[in-house]
Amino acid sequence: MGLARADITPEGPIWLAGYASRDKPSEGVLAPLYAIALALEDGQGNRAVVVTADVIFFRADVAQAAREAIIAKTGLPLDRILLNWSHTHTGPVVEFQEGIGYNMPEEQKQVVDRYTRRLVQEYGDLAAAALADLQPSRLAWGWGVATFPMNRREFTDQGVRIGFNPRGYVDRSVPVLRVDRPDGTLRAVVFGTACHNTTLTGQHYQISVDYAGFARSRIEEKFPGIQALFMIGCAADVNPHPRGEVEHALRHGESLAAEVVRVLEGPMQPVRGPLKTAIETVALPLAPVPDRSQLEAMTRGPSHIASNARRMLERLDRNEPNATTYAAPLAVWQFGADLTLVALPGEVVSDYVPLVENAVGHGRLWIAAYSNEVFGYLPSAKVLREGGYEMRGIIGEGFFAPEVESVVVDAVRRLADRVGRPKLP
Ligand SMILES: [Zn+2]
Repeated sequence: MGLARADITPEGPIWLAGYASRDKPSEGVLAPLYAIALALEDGQGNRAVVVTADVIFFRADVAQAAREAIIAKTGLPLDRILLNWSHTHTGPVVEFQEGIGYNMPEEQKQVVDRYTRRLVQEYGDLAAAALADLQPSRLAWGWGVATFPMNRREFTDQGVRIGFNPRGYVDRSVPVLRVDRPDGTLRAVVFGTACHNTTLTGQHYQISVDYAGFARSRIEEKFPGIQALFMIGCAADVNPHPRGEVEHALRHGESLAAEVVRVLEGPMQPVRGPLKTAIETVALPLAPVPDRSQLEAMTRGPSHIASNARRMLERLDRNEPNATTYAAPLAVWQFGADLTLVALPGEVVSDYVPLVENAVGHGRLWIAAYSNEVFGYLPSAKVLREGGYEMRGIIGEGFFAPEVESVVVDAVRRLADRVGRPKLP
């Protein structure tokens, strides 16, 4: 296992990602942002690299550029590169020029573009540095529980709104991968939670890592010299609770770190090689495009539907053909017979956790989302039926069809078979 880390804190004021309501760039830094790469090589010489970062996510074009930077520096094939973003909403917008969904002035678009290009190059350097750092290591995994993730799909008389739903499903698991030196001393930790990294709301303008980064800092303080990497799970419809204040983010970070430390100090299951990986570009089905009058009616509906409908109307005006599918990468990594890592693209709703478990078995399973590319929300058939923010679709492209659920689950099953995941109950 090898490690590399870079400070990716923007140098000056930059537009912050995640809340359309913001009306000015960042003001100072509460906590620096990092990108951390972890490289693996099994006993047969199979290499792979995971890069995590304190940014909202990469869309397809930026993700593609980051993968190309890694491939150029390392020669790794696509299936052996895994990107995951912490989804902090107090980090920079990461895009090439467009500024989708943000009211940025032109000069900020250029700041964002310059930052994004620098970050993409950093990915290549980090992956290469982590591979140059390979040292004999032993892996083990276990899991704990997070108490602050809260289903945010609140059912109201006006439909499903982003709010508070203590009866709604959330994946509370805290998967933990431990990496030791041969003498048993800890060298690195990978940990996750299925919760939006959005304790800090739109009125915050200081650059920060939110709860996930605060948890990382606490874990690294507890074990000086180690690196801790955060990988987010199926968090699309899950918010931290309570939220809004820096104090809340610190508290959630503390509690998550305490749980990771508890898991590290308890018995853990060995994770051995070989490492088998598979990736597939999956055609996610979109719903038939509504006609012009239906789209016009939708522009008067809830804002999350109206914004997409407006962009789809613009597409009609340009006589551009409408897409019937959206292609996105789906990956599965298999560590010996010990652990399967499922890496789903997009902001994945928590319904996919039981769906994936039912498809490939419950045991020895780590489900990560926001991986390799984020196009927007990946809803389940249930969410599409019920409505609410997570059904907003791919802006300007369309809304997902309910069949997207079975397409994703079938692809996970296929990939799990390909990498030889054992049959588990
Ligand atoms: Zn989100």
